[in-house]
Amino acid sequence: MTEGHPKTHPGKILVVDDTPDNLRLLAGYLTGQGYEVQCAISGALALIGIKNSPPDIILLDIKMPEMDGFQVCQRLKQDSATHDIPVIFLSALNSGSDKLRAFQVGGVDYITKPFQLEEIVARVENQLSLQRAKAEILNLNAELEQRVNERTRELAQLYLHLQTSEERFRTVANAAPVLIWMAEPDGQHSFVNQRWLEFTGDSSSQLLGNAWMQRIHPEDLPCVRQIYEAAVEQRQNFVAEYRLRDAHSAYRWVLETGVPLLTAGQEFAGFIGCCVDIHDRKQTEDQLLHNALHDNLTDLPNRTLLMERLKLSLGRARRYDGFHFAVLFLDLDRFKLVNDSLGHGVGDRLLVAIATRLNQLIRPTDLLSRLGGDEFVILLDDIESAQEAVQVATRILESLQTPFVLEARDVFISASIGIVLSSPEYQDGAELLRDADIAMYRAKTQGKARYEIFNPVMHQEVLRRLHLESDLRQALKQQEFVLHYQPIVSLSSEGLADFEALVRWHHPQRGLVPPDEFIPIAEETGLIVPLGKWVLQEACRQMAEWQRQFTEMPPLRVSVNLSVKQLQEPGLLAYIDDVLAQHGLSGASLTLEITESMLIDNAETVITLLHELRSRSINIDIDDFGTGYSSLGYLRRLPIHALKIDRTFTYNLALNADIVKAIIALGHALSLDVVAEGIETLEQTELLKSLNCEYGQGYYWGRPLPPWEVGQWLREFSVKD
Ligand code: C2E
Ligand code: CA
Ligand code: CA
Repeated sequence: MTEGHPKTHPGKILVVDDTPDNLRLLAGYLTGQGYEVQCAISGALALIGIKNSPPDIILLDIKMPEMDGFQVCQRLKQDSATHDIPVIFLSALNSGSDKLRAFQVGGVDYITKPFQLEEIVARVENQLSLQRAKAEILNLNAELEQRVNERTRELAQLYLHLQTSEERFRTVANAAPVLIWMAEPDGQHSFVNQRWLEFTGDSSSQLLGNAWMQRIHPEDLPCVRQIYEAAVEQRQNFVAEYRLRDAHSAYRWVLETGVPLLTAGQEFAGFIGCCVDIHDRKQTEDQLLHNALHDNLTDLPNRTLLMERLKLSLGRARRYDGFHFAVLFLDLDRFKLVNDSLGHGVGDRLLVAIATRLNQLIRPTDLLSRLGGDEFVILLDDIESAQEAVQVATRILESLQTPFVLEARDVFISASIGIVLSSPEYQDGAELLRDADIAMYRAKTQGKARYEIFNPVMHQEVLRRLHLESDLRQALKQQEFVLHYQPIVSLSSEGLADFEALVRWHHPQRGLVPPDEFIPIAEETGLIVPLGKWVLQEACRQMAEWQRQFTEMPPLRVSVNLSVKQLQEPGLLAYIDDVLAQHGLSGASLTLEITESMLIDNAETVITLLHELRSRSINIDIDDFGTGYSSLGYLRRLPIHALKIDRTFTYNLALNADIVKAIIALGHALSLDVVAEGIETLEQTELLKSLNCEYGQGYYWGRPLPPWEVGQWLREFSVKD
């Protein structure tokens, strides 16, 4: 995070979380930032604490035993004493439904764990400054109104007192430093004091009657007229705030109060009123509000203001059939890289420059806001069709192709954009943001620097993924995984060369879940590390068992797929050593399959690791060869044993014969063996044989089999051999 938040007044924060570690971490950090921090370890304790000493803001964990965060918040909102304390929710899952619920029960914001501490402070400051501004403005106004009111009443008293001598009253009124007027029972001004004349530069005759109204700002006039006429008719006190044109033709804010004049005989004699200049105070108020509603780095509207505007747009869409709007959620790609390599100062300047550029691409009626970090949200109001939103997104993507010049350096940055279109299903802004966020995420996973339009299928997809993710955690604990083994054969001898271990998940409700569905999620969440460890352990255990069982065959070998996350784990090598030793297996029995992209992204550390593996006689194969980046450089430099031609090439072998031929030639030129995946037919086998491809794998030779069927297969295969 790059925000430099102003440390104005510290506030009192209550942190509620059932995990002591979280409490310690948050409390420690926030205290260090100058806040007064209270902690509660359960919802019930939090409620008691809030009663005794109400905090300015609450950070509330959602998942807690007994009383969860939602329940705590609902209780607070029901009590008028605690109703206005802002609640920011903390949740472990980035769950769309949790987020929504959080806003529905009255939360003002939502932060997902694992959180960045700076982000928490930024969001807390956002809310606190809004609270402060609101409170301050309320105070100021109440105080001022009361003072002016008292003044006007004093004046009325004075007038009645001096009524006998109109002349004496005028002398006193003219000496007063505020604008004083009197009106006849019909509301027409009959007197204005000296200060009035000075303020407006008019002569007395130009202000009498209702001429003063001509000096009111046209935007304020209807409202003032209404208040004034109602007061005259009902002979009541009134208060009005409006802009009045002064002698220099500048509008200044004034606060006006009027009280009816009653004679000693309680007869209605007209009005007396008083105006004070509140212009400077009004500007301070505006500044306060502005600060609370804008991001202080870019001066763009912040999340709070965006939510207000979304509310308005939703309201308009409900009222007017033809009114449509769109929300664009924009997240910079690899912004962290800029921050880390060029420093936070440059990162901040980049954000400001992007804000300026984006603002030039939208209409004045649209709203560009910054949610924090590198996230921007654009509200496109009143659009004709989805096409218009797409055009804006395209314009943005194109405009980002021009680099930003910062410190005499060209900085390139792209963005992923999620688009959501207004529809009657949306009840509040949080839902719109959630779906725009989902679409943005989709744009990221589809390759970044692009836009995606939200559709409900994406939402289902996200929910499904969320469920899969939590189920995956369970699955590891409950050992719901099994390995299946698929033979890899030598095409020349047709003898068994190897087994590839392929993981399977027996989901208690959904049955067998294919790896293509859960491996990517496991990789994203880091669960692949423990899962991968289990695969290695189990594959080696099984191989050792079969080696003992089938002594008449050459020692069986196993290929295990490695994920990039595993390669980045510092303990991988030690773990492999451990597992091999544990099962008395030689390194020569193990092959590790990695993909090309792992080499590109992690060059140096991976090279060292691969040499270490090689020195243990462990083979390294390049999986899915031909689908990713290729660099002949690394193929030559690295201790690789074989290339595995991706199964998509084999699938359409006749069509891809040239490519397959080229890959085989390349492999051979580098003294590597070549394995063809996905062989399903005799024709494919024959063709690959004729191209001198060393090994083959596919349904033609054998499907991936559960361990209990491998023994049977081995016996049949040896017979056929
Ligand atoms: P992969 O490493 O390319 O594995 C080969 C995939 O091709 C397997 O799919 C296998 O069942 C399938 N296959 C084999 N022969 C044929 C054939 O003749 N025709 C067709 N159409 N397909 C064939 P599977 O088991 O669904 O695995 C999919 C991917 O999941 C694997 O692709 C691999 O990337 C990943 N994966 C599987 N197990 C593991 C694991 O233990 N660890 C990691 N990191 N990834 C794994
Ligand atoms: Ca593989
Ligand atoms: Ca493969």
